[in-house]
Amino acid sequence: EASAKVIDGKSVAKEIRDEIDVEISRMKDSIGVVPGLAVILVGDRKDSATYVRNKKKSCESVGINSYEVRLPEDSSEQEVLEHISRFNDDPSVHGILVQLPLPSHMNEQNVLNAVCIEKDVDGFHPLNIGRLAMRDREPLFVPCTPKGCIELLHRYGVDIKGQRAVVIGRSNIVGMPAALLLQREDATVSIVHSRTKNPEKITREADIIISAVGQPNMVKGSWIKPGSVVIDVGINPVEDAKSPRGYRLVGDVCYEEASKIASAITPVPGGVGPMTIAMLLSNTLISAKRINNFK
Ligand code: NDP
Repeated sequence: EASAKVIDGKSVAKEIRDEIDVEISRMKDSIGVVPGLAVILVGDRKDSATYVRNKKKSCESVGINSYEVRLPEDSSEQEVLEHISRFNDDPSVHGILVQLPLPSHMNEQNVLNAVCIEKDVDGFHPLNIGRLAMRDREPLFVPCTPKGCIELLHRYGVDIKGQRAVVIGRSNIVGMPAALLLQREDATVSIVHSRTKNPEKITREADIIISAVGQPNMVKGSWIKPGSVVIDVGINPVEDAKSPRGYRLVGDVCYEEASKIASAITPVPGGVGPMTIAMLLSNTLISAKRINNFK
């Protein structure tokens, strides 16, 4: 019998989109500015195309203009850099997003560094990450997925200050910035990764778990302290003959087991996933407000 409260990312994301919609109308009515997001997609990976399509749809739903550039797989890095440079200079664009992964012949670091920090709505620029890590500094943007995780904790009234938090995974886009954010919120943070000895024991000390690993059902019930709050970022396809697509999506956490032990948990899908896009819209709005000095 499940006892954990379900943290409903889908409905929180909807709430946030509604708030953004109101703010965008207010800005448009008072200074005539509409936020704009530019998305650059290189190559024809199906998953990337789906992500870009969803981002575009979400932009439209709140009144953000989206500008899409699609380049063939064999484009040169120089071409990508030229588009970035054009968007950097374009006053109708407030956020620039390069869909990752890039084709292997491109240098991802060069490309991400080219996005001007004022329009880095993904928050991946080293200057933004550096500021996130430093005391008394403010990043211009916080990476969307970890920001979405913290937003869920806030909106569900979960205390972070002074709590023990464990982040499983240390990627540049999720795990590492999630750990930095939790630390900024005054949690005591441990990071578990592929070389960690006895990850189960460490994770069981956590009041708050954020898992971003990419391994289906890795975090078992025995890893979870009774009453803890579990945020599952993982999105992992597993074979499922009963599904028309032949697979279904599960998280990193064994939901069945965890939902009997945790006090609250995010489902997959419908947890962190919808929050990521909502945070991208939020970052784009923040950027348009800041660039136009609109409060
Ligand atoms: P990465 O592959 O970049 O990073 C995975 C991390 O998990 C690494 O730090 C790795 O450790 C660690 N890891 C791998 N295996 C183990 C293990 N057995 N035990 C402990 N740690 C392990 O993945 P991402 O961070 O990009 O994504 C993680 C998951 O989140 C994926 O399922 C992805 O689909 C999902 N995701 C969901 C998003 C959303 O919107 N909800 C957005 C982005 C990602 P090491 O550093 O030592 O290699």
